[in-house]
Amino acid sequence: MKRKDISKNGAGEAMEIRRRKTRVVRIGNVSVGGRSPIVVQSMTKTDTADTRKTIKQIKSLEKAGCEIVRVAVPDSGAARALGKIKVSIKIPLVADIHFDHRLALIALEEGVDGLRINPGNIGKRERVEQVVKAALKRKVPIRIGVNAGSIEKRILSKYGRPSPSAMLESALGHTKILEELGFRAIKLSLKASNVRDTVEAYRLAAKETDYPLHLGITEAGSYVSGTIHSAVGIGILLSEGIGDTLRVSLTAPPEREVEVAYEILRALDLRKRGPRVISCPSCGRAEIDVEKLTKQVESKIAGLTSPIDIAIMGCVVNGPGEAQDADIGLAGGKGLGMLFVRGKKAGKVKEKDFLAALLKEIETLTREKL
Ligand code: SF4
Repeated sequence: MKRKDISKNGAGEAMEIRRRKTRVVRIGNVSVGGRSPIVVQSMTKTDTADTRKTIKQIKSLEKAGCEIVRVAVPDSGAARALGKIKVSIKIPLVADIHFDHRLALIALEEGVDGLRINPGNIGKRERVEQVVKAALKRKVPIRIGVNAGSIEKRILSKYGRPSPSAMLESALGHTKILEELGFRAIKLSLKASNVRDTVEAYRLAAKETDYPLHLGITEAGSYVSGTIHSAVGIGILLSEGIGDTLRVSLTAPPEREVEVAYEILRALDLRKRGPRVISCPSCGRAEIDVEKLTKQVESKIAGLTSPIDIAIMGCVVNGPGEAQDADIGLAGGKGLGMLFVRGKKAGKVKEKDFLAALLKEIETLTREKL
């Protein structure tokens, strides 16, 4: 199906997204903000104190393309496990701390690369100060992670509900404490489970500060609903140039969060990782089983990192156009299909050989073993 170009600049081209200018914060060996690519994060779902399981999950996340990993630190057992986890993984490790500031102090001793604190539930200013001073000494950045569900009572009673302005006030109040202590390695997040509030809160924060913003929709939901909510919320913000790193929260294995994050970034041409199969929805004109072939190809290419587009189209009416636009394309016909490589016809293929022919071209183009 040939699409019309979305013309926003009158020249037949979609306008480039201009990213908001932010300062750069280093988390271990990864830069967030400035001109750095938008960084993909995830969070483990294991008991952090179970180092064997946690390290295994992080290694699987690394393979999926996760660039920063966060682990929950609910108690001192989890906090004390961080050192062992840290030395066993390649990507930066962030400790997620709620309520007990002493856990943040242990996490720093254990050598984490970043802290995420929810100041709304850490309590007294002195406690936040202790954490900030220790982080400053070790040059470890802090994400101030405001959640709509845990805003300070004082701010809630002022706004009547955890509105975007209430979230912003909470975030800025805590940013100020850190700044007063000379701490600037700050990232901010302002998450609500409601997409519209989240979007508005980030827009307000983007106007008020130049700290890098960590995007996410909290408690987004199961794989399907969470993916949709995240794609809409995070997508709106990214399309406005807001956001330096993101985590898609899903009630699903964390590797899926990483996949979805890259798909959101790819949809906006902000980043590409791994191959993508563009398949037609199929209809009464289809001459081949598009769904079956798509699933077969997707299962074979899982884990590849080369950013190539593979089109699988069901018929010769609309198929060849899309197939030609992709790096590798197949337009199905009766018992035969036309294969395209980088826009050029590469020959007719019998239906029984579709999968093998596509995989051969994918392997040649990516030089990655399938
Ligand atoms: Fe489009 Fe042909 Fe696929 Fe139908 S079968 S959706 S017309 S490409």
